[in-house]
Amino acid sequence: MADLDVDLCVIGGGSGGVRAARIAANHGAKVIVAEEYRMGGTCVIRGCVPKKLMVYASHIHQEIEDAAGFGWSIPSATFDWATLIANKDKEIARLEAAYTTNVEKSGAKIVKARAVFEDAHTLRLSTGEKVNAKYVLIATGGAPNHGATIPGIEHVISSNEVFHLPKLPKRIVIQGGGYIALEFACIFAGLGSDVTVVYRGDNILRGFDEDVRTHVRSEMEAEGINIITGCNVTKVDKHGEVFTAHLSSGSSIAADQVMFAIGRHPNVKGLGLEKAGVALNPVNGGVAVNEFSQTNVPHIYAVGDVTHRINLTPVAIREGHAFADTVFGNRLTRVDHNDIPTAVFSQPQVGTVGLTEAEARAQYTHVDIYKANFKPMKATMSGNRSRVLMKLIVDASTDRILGCHIVSSDAAEIVQVVGIAMKMKATKADFDSTMALHPTSAEELVTMRTPFARHVRQAAE
Ligand code: FAD
Ligand code: NDP
Repeated sequence: MADLDVDLCVIGGGSGGVRAARIAANHGAKVIVAEEYRMGGTCVIRGCVPKKLMVYASHIHQEIEDAAGFGWSIPSATFDWATLIANKDKEIARLEAAYTTNVEKSGAKIVKARAVFEDAHTLRLSTGEKVNAKYVLIATGGAPNHGATIPGIEHVISSNEVFHLPKLPKRIVIQGGGYIALEFACIFAGLGSDVTVVYRGDNILRGFDEDVRTHVRSEMEAEGINIITGCNVTKVDKHGEVFTAHLSSGSSIAADQVMFAIGRHPNVKGLGLEKAGVALNPVNGGVAVNEFSQTNVPHIYAVGDVTHRINLTPVAIREGHAFADTVFGNRLTRVDHNDIPTAVFSQPQVGTVGLTEAEARAQYTHVDIYKANFKPMKATMSGNRSRVLMKLIVDASTDRILGCHIVSSDAAEIVQVVGIAMKMKATKADFDSTMALHPTSAEELVTMRTPFARHVRQAAE
């Protein structure tokens, strides 16, 4: 087969790769995208999008429970897993097609193949073709960790398999205390499964604000999710259709499914990076890049989860866009990785942007904490016991908002907008001068007048 000569070969048709390919093609580059699985990558095929669709499905259970207090009687609601999965798959196929069309419309060519380096300018496709590329973008994403190999690891599923289970597990054990573990714990609990979360540390969501961690855990436990901390799964047995997760505490749990969500690693294995001379970073073993996503080999770049930055879709997209503008648009563009809003789509959701209280107190001398913990208006009639947490962290010397942390059903939507205010360097006075929008939960953010706590760092701290 004929060799292909291109300006840019993008390895990976996920969030970062697709954006980079489209923008580079718009700038006039001859671009090829190699994708070994499905266009759209993790986010579209087995990440953010199918996950959020399942989150919506799981919320309906709460709406049905809440309905009675408002006079509605819904006598016999039933849920069908097969319908949810089939409809989700249909939507994902639609999005995959849209991603394909958009890349092709930009003028870039897609090849459904695995690409590996033969040398710094040559890629071998699994179709047998060779690509000679002036520039290469590595956008191969990441994959789920399995952790240390334990007996019975072959019985354990990851987020890759969870989207295609043949039936809803009546009982599921999920190991991990981060984004994926908590999101799926709440999805399964909302759909009616009996859920146990096993986490090795003392509290879930390490790295998040302490108040958020405590609040989310108590909300999840109140919904019936069993959270076991200070513990690991050490072995998994399977007898017939039943799995048994053995824990380091000596106890064991019977389940219909065992899932691990214990982080992800960059997809670099077998890529031939050594043949291209591309260096890895010591932080997570991903591709080492500078602020322009450039590797140690000047014409090879990398974006998204395959690097060592923040593993979120919008970040991969921005990095891909910035790369294309820098290399093909004649516009040096850096991505600002500060104050990135993020959400855990648990139930209730966590929305967070900026510093946690602990980080702010370590970095700033005078820190004021504003905090509200209240029953949302809807719960007054639904009888739902869940409470909302809103927290603002303020640099008392400059009045700048340093962090915002929310646990509520709409936390993600609210924090996206707070993120704009923080990028504009909003002060607490700016928040206070904003008229409240009543009646909402978010109005608390502009009506918290008195600090809950003031922290002054002593010279010795
Ligand atoms: P990917 O999207 O992973 O794309 C990499 C692509 O490269 C894949 O399609 C892969 O098949 C392909 N590939 C790999 N190697 C090769 C090769 N050698 N040749 C050809 N093709 C190759 N982020 C959020 O912002 N919000 C969320 O709600 C969210 N939810 C998530 C839920 C789950 C369950 C998971 C797993 C992740 C979630 N994320 C979320 C993270 C988000 O999906 C990733 O940060 C994002 O997809 C990274 O994009 P990427 O372009 O770096 O890689
Ligand atoms: P996270 O890093 O969020 O969480 C990993 C969890 O697994 C942590 O609780 C960690 O514990 C624990 N863990 C790590 N190694 C082990 C081990 N060997 N044994 C037992 N437990 C272990 O990763 P996820 O897998 O949940 O998600 C991967 C990434 O994908 C996220 O970090 C995020 O960037 C992205 N994502 C984003 C989402 C969103 O935006 N809503 C949703 C889903 C994923 P410890 O804290 O003690 O290290």
